[in-house]
Amino acid sequence: MTTYDLVVVGGGPSGVAGALSAALAGLRVALLDAGPRLGGQYFRHSASPQDLHHGLDRFLRQADALGERADVLTGHQVWAVSREDEGFAVHALAGETPVTVRGTRLLIATGAHDRPLPFPGWDLPGVLTAGGAQALLKGNNVRAGRRVVVSGTGPFLLPVAASLAADVVGVFEANRGLGLARHPVLAAAKTGEAAGYGFALARHRVPYRTRHAVVAAHGDDRLTHVTVAKLDRDWNVLSTRTVECDTLATGYGFVPQLDLLTQLGCATGHDADGSPIVTVDAAQCTSVPGVYAAGEPTGVGGAVLAEVEGRIAGLSLSGVAVPGLLLRRRARLRAFAAALHEAYPVRPGWQSWLRDDTLVCRCEEVPLSRVREAQELGATEARSIKLLARPGMGWCQGRMCGYAVSCLAGERPQAPRRPIAQPITLGSLERINDDESR
Ligand SMILES: Cc1cc2nc3c(=O)[nH]c(=O)nc-3n(C[C@H](O)[C@H](O)[C@H](O)COP(=O)(O)OP(=O)(O)OC[C@H]3O[C@@H](n4cnc5c(N)ncnc54)[C@H](O)[C@@H]3O)c2cc1C
Repeated sequence: MTTYDLVVVGGGPSGVAGALSAALAGLRVALLDAGPRLGGQYFRHSASPQDLHHGLDRFLRQADALGERADVLTGHQVWAVSREDEGFAVHALAGETPVTVRGTRLLIATGAHDRPLPFPGWDLPGVLTAGGAQALLKGNNVRAGRRVVVSGTGPFLLPVAASLAADVVGVFEANRGLGLARHPVLAAAKTGEAAGYGFALARHRVPYRTRHAVVAAHGDDRLTHVTVAKLDRDWNVLSTRTVECDTLATGYGFVPQLDLLTQLGCATGHDADGSPIVTVDAAQCTSVPGVYAAGEPTGVGGAVLAEVEGRIAGLSLSGVAVPGLLLRRRARLRAFAAALHEAYPVRPGWQSWLRDDTLVCRCEEVPLSRVREAQELGATEARSIKLLARPGMGWCQGRMCGYAVSCLAGERPQAPRRPIAQPITLGSLERINDDESR
């Protein structure tokens, strides 16, 4: 049975950069990723054209170099990590087959997932997350619809709308747009990319409206039209109109994936937007010695920051001095990420879009009225609302509704406590024994 010097979970830009830096420093490295190939959310590149991914060539060179120097285990879904005498055990499923990989150090680079907000009709077929629409295009070359509305907040709406521009009938940004005036130098670095998206939208005459959002989706058995509202600063509705469409892509930011880190007891804090994040020191080390984190779990900040953090983690845990240039770059990129969070907050007025029968939790079909009943019974925070009304108890374990329920409870979202990070059958659990360990 091999014990690696480093086991990395996550094959996006941060995990690959971290694994490669450590392998180049001479460490024995294994990297596990649930996906069929390396890339993560941004470099999800199976079928789509190159221009959907800035920097794909560079990433592919890193991934090839890693493949020559480390054990890369794609198609491995990690469901738990645990401490052992000499390090850590990473428990994964390769299909139905349980696999355990051991290492003296861990780098957790598990990225983030979409953060949707509920609104009437968000459970209709044809409504999907902005990340989902992009994943369809990047991963499968499938366009989400023929008349697409993009709504939500944040700069991520732009690449999604631009990549689907020929089919997009409108982009609705709930905030005021580019509120980066206080960071002109940082914003300038992104001007070219933003201009590219703007050009794609202009070429197809796609309207881009700020202080507007979709507040309801309609249709009998699938989406046929949406209600678009003009909003005040806090996102209360000022006026509405109807837009016909067959697809709605909606996104209100991302939630860092912390499950494996909290299983190990790593300390957490909150990002500028209130999202729970793992706390790391200058070397990207968490509060648990030997456990490092990079990329979105330390705060959502984009693919470039993720790669820089991965490199810093890989060098630090290998005992290699980190160049000052890299540290300064991380500081600049983190400042930019904080500025974006400030410019695109989720404002409380979205709660006024809900009706009593609006499903807050789609898995357990919990409407707003049941959440309110739980509060009337004395539930004051998200956890007790969950125990009384069941939002977050279904298949996704609160990944989709957790943020909304916390907001409805009037509290900041808490770090997840999921002893099992991914669904695993009892049959697979039964088959786990030392003979199956690598
Ligand atoms: C849906 C979505 C779409 C995005 N699109 C863009 C975009 O177009 N442009 C942009 O600039 N940014 C985009 N982002 C943000 C972007 O993901 C990041 O900035 C960048 O990819 C972060 O890199 P990362 O290495 O931290 O994480 P990721 O790239 O997300 O990589 C994390 C990896 O960890 C793996 N993983 C997670 N949990 C497990 C587990 N339990 N077991 C095994 N493997 C696991 C995942 O399969 C994934 O490959 C997107 C984010 C999301 C969530």
